[in-house]
Amino acid sequence: MKKVIGIDIGGTKILGGVIGSNGDLIKFKETSTDANLGRDHILKKLFGVLDDLFDTDIEGIGIGSAGRINFNTGEVIYATDNLPGWTGINLKEIISQKYRTKTIVENDVNAAIVGENWLGSAKSFKDILMITLGTGVGGAIILDGKLIRGSHFSSAEIGHTILYPGGKRCNCGQNGCVEQYISGTAIYKRYNEIAGSNLVNSAKDVFKLYMKNDKISKLVVDEFVKSLSLLIFNIRNFIDPEIIILGGGVTNSKDLWWEYLKSQIKCDLNISVAGLNNFSTVYGAAKLILNEGVV
Ligand SMILES: [Zn+2]
Repeated sequence: MKKVIGIDIGGTKILGGVIGSNGDLIKFKETSTDANLGRDHILKKLFGVLDDLFDTDIEGIGIGSAGRINFNTGEVIYATDNLPGWTGINLKEIISQKYRTKTIVENDVNAAIVGENWLGSAKSFKDILMITLGTGVGGAIILDGKLIRGSHFSSAEIGHTILYPGGKRCNCGQNGCVEQYISGTAIYKRYNEIAGSNLVNSAKDVFKLYMKNDKISKLVVDEFVKSLSLLIFNIRNFIDPEIIILGGGVTNSKDLWWEYLKSQIKCDLNISVAGLNNFSTVYGAAKLILNEGVV
């Protein structure tokens, strides 16, 4: 059995796993990204995870990173302020030289959809769309069994499609992006905006308050679901997927809003949460290196 490493670099956490070609998770490591400390610090954190997982029998490293990634060169073409200083870094070069093993770098959500297609909720499906709701909002598409990267490696940049023209300022420079309404960050910021004070600092806090019947959180979750269902409706009309997979930290609270979301979508659509929970990208990055990038 081959053994490879799969890595997930997000704005909040770096996750890594040693994965067998049979899909077994052999070893696992997690650390905070502390992204606000910048590029060198994020790299240091990444090396920390890899040093822990790497061994002589590892046959490759697959990395899923937030941002727009040139899959061919392994360069981060563009990353938002969720990963400051990440734009321009060539991860493939750095990691393959440091660990002297073949390395593949892919957008984190592209890797996640590959993971879900391999071992998760989208197993045996061929037309899949994935949306991740975390620090930011990401998207990925598999059509007819093939990962769609786009001609500029920016397909399915759902987070930066505009949901409300003239709406909230986004860190990408546009106004009204999806990310400003349905990301974990957007959820807690909206709470503080309505409250007129910084009472919460995570979406998790908002969902905790929701369970206590807190009025503001009810309003925030209602807005969140309406925005998400509008997005899903648009996507369905655009791609007509067999299944839509929702992933990312926000879906940990799905029990609170899943039925409401389904009632809002108002159409017959196969929609599911990620089956690999927060490990979709780790598994997918591993699958990509196992397949030498052909998915
Ligand atoms: Zn944007």
